[in-house]
Amino acid sequence: MARYAYVNGRYVDHRDASVHIEDRGYQLADGVYEVVGVRDGKLIDEGPHIDRLDRSLRELRIGWPVSRQALGFVMRELMRRNRLRDGLIYMQVTRGVARRDHAFPTTPVKPALVLTTKNTKHLGVDPGPGVAVKSQPDIRWERCDIKTVALLPNVLAKQAARESGAYEAWLIDDKGCITEGASTNAWIVTPDNELVTRQTDNGILAGITRGTLKKIAGDLQLRFVERPFTLTEARKAKEAFITSATSFVTPVVKIDGEAVGDGKVGPTARRLREEYVRFASEGEAVT
Ligand code: PMP
Repeated sequence: MARYAYVNGRYVDHRDASVHIEDRGYQLADGVYEVVGVRDGKLIDEGPHIDRLDRSLRELRIGWPVSRQALGFVMRELMRRNRLRDGLIYMQVTRGVARRDHAFPTTPVKPALVLTTKNTKHLGVDPGPGVAVKSQPDIRWERCDIKTVALLPNVLAKQAARESGAYEAWLIDDKGCITEGASTNAWIVTPDNELVTRQTDNGILAGITRGTLKKIAGDLQLRFVERPFTLTEARKAKEAFITSATSFVTPVVKIDGEAVGDGKVGPTARRLREEYVRFASEGEAVT
């Protein structure tokens, strides 16, 4: 079966899909992206993801390449063509193609739109054995709230984590607080059962999974607090976990080689994952 990509108005064979060498995304990382999870042929949290794309575009003054409705259609068409049941849709919008100059093009250019899909294994309620994380200095810029394709600090942090045998990097700011993961949000459960994740501001990406889990935590009447927390506090936590569109709720059982709590997956992460999977099962399947 051919795998398709969508590139500026056309569905093309993924192997032949390409963009212009003077695309500002390629040359200057002048673009934004979104990743929407797909489970059992259903898009998870489509509306909030598209709202966040809209926000990222507005913050960078990049126009919408197609209407919001048309984007919804393209997402579904690509899912159908690629028979996507479990995985993700990646979409990227860049400022477009123009002669290289740091400043915005002075003549109007059309923003470039690319969509691809990726199959992954079916994620269920079982969180698995948990993952290890490694702390890394957060060397990113001061607008981490914008989901830009400029991900080099995240790439380097993730690579350092992987080279040490960890799955994710937890980024530490200059006050010793964990901001978030390289591609996930970071959460802990304190010894007195407070569920903590950092507040959303310019220091982190407002994860869509994080937002949904916040609602779930409310429904479950958990004691939930949004505040900064230090690496020291995380090391003493009862539980820790990460959230993202592609990892759902994944327990963290080791930080910098040391066990979190008893080193096993805890009840809070287990319960929140169950509820998240229940939420992800709602809605109409596309494929
Ligand atoms: N933080 C960063 C830096 C990310 O790249 C991601 C993944 N998009 C997240 C958090 C989690 O966001 P979401 O739940 O929307 O996938």
